[in-house]
Amino acid sequence: MSVPTKWQLVQHWLASPDRDTFAPMLEDAGAPCCFACGWFSERWNRQTQKASWGRATLERAHIIPSSLGGSDDASNVILLCAPCHRDSPDWPDPGEMARWIAARPDRSSKEVEDVSDWFIALKQAPEFTALLATLEAEPDLPDAEAIERIKGMLWESARRASLHASALSTGTKVAILRDTAAGATRGEV
Ligand SMILES: [Zn+2]
Repeated sequence: MSVPTKWQLVQHWLASPDRDTFAPMLEDAGAPCCFACGWFSERWNRQTQKASWGRATLERAHIIPSSLGGSDDASNVILLCAPCHRDSPDWPDPGEMARWIAARPDRSSKEVEDVSDWFIALKQAPEFTALLATLEAEPDLPDAEAIERIKGMLWESARRASLHASALSTGTKVAILRDTAAGATRGEV
């Protein structure tokens, strides 16, 4: 017996009487999310529900681990994000998993985390805030044009960081903001 696919697990848990216990954050088939914390990413949205779940970076997690005698039946497997999978209990009693899920805090979406992370970076790059103030002070520059200029400058700075990084660290974001501000000061843009 092999572990069910993510889509098979969604079908199982949507219809399961134990859904509130082991998949409380699962609302419908069209909204991929971690069953325990509700984490989702807009990037998972695809044309079909099956493709969206297939694309979602969720892990198949056994309620009772295989090593402790748990089966690969869909009733023993849930979909968790990586942090939830890492933190969840490996225990022979499914009641422990149920208690853990009930106590798991909700997690905001990846996009929200990304945005708030940029605000944290902004606080560490006062040069960039000063650049924004300078642009705002230019009397004849239309707002849309100013935004486009900043976007272009940020993109150029971001190209100096690794293009292959899947996610930018806060420190890299600070460096990008500072580099953009420094480039503007030198009149490179
Ligand atoms: Zn999670």
